[in-house]
Amino acid sequence: YFVSFEGGDGVGKTTHISLLGDWLGEVTGREVVLTREPGGTELGSTLRQAVLHGEDLDPRTEALLYAADRAHHVATVVRPALARGAVVVTDRYLDSSVAYQAGGRELAEQEIEDLSRWATGSLLPDVTVLLDLDPVEAAGRLGGPPDRLERAGSDFHRRTREAFLRRAAADPDRWIVMDASAPREDVQAQIRVDVAARLGL
Ligand code: C5P
Ligand code: MG
Repeated sequence: YFVSFEGGDGVGKTTHISLLGDWLGEVTGREVVLTREPGGTELGSTLRQAVLHGEDLDPRTEALLYAADRAHHVATVVRPALARGAVVVTDRYLDSSVAYQAGGRELAEQEIEDLSRWATGSLLPDVTVLLDLDPVEAAGRLGGPPDRLERAGSDFHRRTREAFLRRAAADPDRWIVMDASAPREDVQAQIRVDVAARLGL
C-alpha cells in the first residue's frame, strides 16, 4: 500500500504520519516505511537544502529540483519498498508539486502534472490524506526559523491551499480531506477509519 500525506506547513503531517504508521504496522503486520519529500534520500537531503535554504531560484528550476528529488525517491525508496510488500507512507508527494509549483508559483498545472508523472513513471498513491488548515493558523504552529517557502507571502499559501482542495475534490476516490483544526485525537481516529476503508483493511 502506498499512502501520501499532503497539506501546508504546520498542519501536523509529521505527527499524524507517525501515529498512522504505527497503527498500519499493527493492523497489516507488514513492514512500514515512513519517508518524505523533499529529502527522503541522501541526494534528496542535498536537494532539500538547496531548494529551502540556498539562493533564490527561478520557479522552473525549483520545479525541476523537486521533480529530481521525487524521481530518485521513487526509484530508490518507494518502488523497492512496495516491491517487498511494505506499506509506504510519504510526507508529501506529487500533489505538493501541483499545489506549490502550479498553485503557489503559478506555473502551468498540466505541465507540472506531466513532469511529475514522468518523474515517477506515473506511480500514484492508493490513498492521499489532505490535512487542510487555514495557512494563518498553520503558521502559528510552526517552530524554528522559517525556510524560504515559509517566508513566502500569504497569497502564495492561499493559492497552494486552494490547489490542494481543488485536486482533492476532483479525485475523491484517492483523496481523504481532513479538517486539521479539529482535536488531534479526533483527526487521527478519522484518518484511520477512512484509510482502512480505502485500503480494504
Ligand atoms: O513539509 P516540509 O517542511 O518537508 O516541506 C518543505 C518545504 O518545501 C515546505 O515549506 C513546502 O512549502 C515546500 N515545498 C514546495 N514544493 C514542493 C514540496 C515542498 O514548495 N513540491
Ligand atoms: Mg516545513
